[in-house]
Amino acid sequence: MPTSAPAPGSVPAGASARDVVVVGGGIVGLAVAWRAADAGLAVTVLDPSPGDGATRAAAGMLAAVSEADFGERELARLNVASAARWPAFAADLAAATGHDVPLLRAGSLAVAYDADDLALLRRVLALHREWGLASAEVPVADARRREPYLGPRLAGAAVVDGDLAVDPRAAHAALCAALGPALVRRAAVRLERDAAGRVVAVHDGAGARHATGAVVLATGHGMTASLLDGVPEVRVPVRPVKGMTVRLDAPPGLALEHVVRGTVQGRSVYVVPRAAGTGTGPGSGPEHREIVVGATSEERPDDRRAEAGGVFALLRDARALVPGIDEAALVDVTPRARPATPDNLPLVGATAVPGLLAAVGHGRNGVLLAPLTADAVLAALTGAPPPDDALSAADPRRFAPADRPADSPLPEGAAR
Ligand SMILES: Cc1cc2nc3c(=O)[nH]c(=O)nc-3n(C[C@H](O)[C@H](O)[C@H](O)COP(=O)(O)OP(=O)(O)OC[C@H]3O[C@@H](n4cnc5c(N)ncnc54)[C@H](O)[C@@H]3O)c2cc1C
Repeated sequence: MPTSAPAPGSVPAGASARDVVVVGGGIVGLAVAWRAADAGLAVTVLDPSPGDGATRAAAGMLAAVSEADFGERELARLNVASAARWPAFAADLAAATGHDVPLLRAGSLAVAYDADDLALLRRVLALHREWGLASAEVPVADARRREPYLGPRLAGAAVVDGDLAVDPRAAHAALCAALGPALVRRAAVRLERDAAGRVVAVHDGAGARHATGAVVLATGHGMTASLLDGVPEVRVPVRPVKGMTVRLDAPPGLALEHVVRGTVQGRSVYVVPRAAGTGTGPGSGPEHREIVVGATSEERPDDRRAEAGGVFALLRDARALVPGIDEAALVDVTPRARPATPDNLPLVGATAVPGLLAAVGHGRNGVLLAPLTADAVLAALTGAPPPDDALSAADPRRFAPADRPADSPLPEGAAR
């Protein structure tokens, strides 16, 4: 910890009761809190319903390559840097808690349903080449040899060996275990500042005051407006983008081993398998596995409604790629909202206000980005340099209040 002239986000020397209060206990907030606690900081996390935000819906793809998209070069850099951290993050978490946090390492298969879908896949593969990301088109027969559950009618395929996947609910449960009583089931309702403007305490919904050296906002899209009422210097332009995933319990006859991502007549869909023994349907046995199908995407609030049409469309497109899902049991439909930003990049690190940091706006990649975010916030808290150059694109101060009013229209082609 620094002893003089602390950096804007850093915890002052000899900080009070808690060194850090993290507001929000989704995968991002808990990853930040755990890394900070592990580094010796005294941490409290406030969240009335930890893990029940976007984290609950996430499929858990750690797909730095497959997620690379046109116009998102800086996001791709962040994703690559964070994906590289996931194996150590999962291993450290498992060692700290005894909770298994297995990674699926078989890679992704990117498939195209018809000729137009194949044309799009080839454009994306060209983008990967341009950005130095490893992927390769293969004959459909080769893809089917790797993954025999692929459907009979595919126009093309590619392999992305470096993509990983994790069960976000399992990772979140392990983080909860790691944090123990530091996780307090209350909402933050107000930030308190001292005469110099520094954030020095958080007040929760039960009336308690949590004195602290620093506050990290990790509220996903769900921050209550009142929380930033007294902090006009900071703008957090995060909006909800609703999405749904469907969880299936696959019988032993559907031992899918790769993430299958595809385009079916222009519509994106993915099928993410877990290891055998993860099935949760009625009558599930040790050879059953969870399969997650996703995801819808709509510019809508987090109303938690699972529309029948959305579920139908996901299953229709998923079975075009992996017909065997017909035999799986439908276990769970989870509608939530991604925390999206105007430029599709998260806000990670110190804000313009001393003692206030941000770890929000991770959009469709928050699980993937959790380890890098945690390392970046810890660096800011301790006055260390950012752990990766790519983080400069995620500086929360790029959204200064004077830049643009909060209610101005989004730029064309903004976050999905
Ligand atoms: C359908 C779907 C599929 C997805 N699939 C993937 C995927 O495969 N891979 C991937 O990397 N990402 C995926 N994502 C994105 C990922 O889920 C999010 O980016 C990530 O969960 C964001 O984590 P978070 O902790 O910031 O937010 P959240 O998980 O939303 O957590 C925010 C928390 O803050 C709490 N909170 C809010 N306000 C307050 C307050 N005032 N006081 C206290 N607590 C508060 C909430 O209760 C909540 O628990 C998906 C998202 C969706 C919706």
